[in-house]
Amino acid sequence: MPMKQFLLRLLRRMGIYHPLQSFYRSCIFYTQRFYLRLQFKSFAGSGYTCNVCGHSYLKFKEDEPAHENAHAIRKWNVIAGYGKNIICPYCMSHARERLVLQVLKEKMDITDWHVLHLSPEKNLYTFLAQRSRVTAADIQPGFYHHITKGVEKQDATQLTYPDNTFDLMIANHVLEHIPEDEQAMREFFRVLKPGARAILQVPYSNELEDIQEQKEINDPEMQSRLFGQKDHVRVYSCNGYMKRLTNAGFEVRFVPYEHLSQWYVYAIQAQEGFFEIQKPVI
Ligand SMILES: [Zn+2]
Repeated sequence: MPMKQFLLRLLRRMGIYHPLQSFYRSCIFYTQRFYLRLQFKSFAGSGYTCNVCGHSYLKFKEDEPAHENAHAIRKWNVIAGYGKNIICPYCMSHARERLVLQVLKEKMDITDWHVLHLSPEKNLYTFLAQRSRVTAADIQPGFYHHITKGVEKQDATQLTYPDNTFDLMIANHVLEHIPEDEQAMREFFRVLKPGARAILQVPYSNELEDIQEQKEINDPEMQSRLFGQKDHVRVYSCNGYMKRLTNAGFEVRFVPYEHLSQWYVYAIQAQEGFFEIQKPVI
């Protein structure tokens, strides 16, 4: 077993793996932000406004896939959060967060809703927590303790919440990590109230006919090469993803990027459509 994997397993068993990872992520975040601040002049101007921090720029920072991930991303033209205008130079918010935030702002009135937020992103969590009752959860809660200490430990395929509990759930770019994603979708359906919404954005390809996946895979190098990230187990096709959600019981409508393009000013990712997902009212 490679030394790095051995150490990570050892630390995880000792219960100090996630705090270290959280610390590591914080260091990366602040270093990148410092570096961006040094380059402020190259972003100066107007044209795009961050819907998280309110700052405006001529452009946002682009983000390209790492070398080991690029093959899969480019092979199927996966819409996965890469390209121009992705990261806010001021608050470092990501295009995929800003898209969901704009949906929350314009398409929903979440006041006093009970929201399940899986793998909570900081900016979205903050927005939700100011307006609604949020339950934050993840299979590795320690990973998110820099956001809130109140993250519950939950396995998305075996949620412990009662049926019909939540008005909304958000799992933004989560399902592509879960081998038994269809079981997770059925669990999401179960814990949502009739008529409740789900925001379950994933990386997807319009060029793939079928979903590409290997549920049993446990090889980060291979996963990068095949699926574009070391901890992904699939790349969804747009139609295949909608079919799985429908099979789980959801009503699904795909809103193409062209219908969201009025939000370009918030530097949302060009090409990315939105999956409108709802549990039927009955
Ligand atoms: Zn910002």
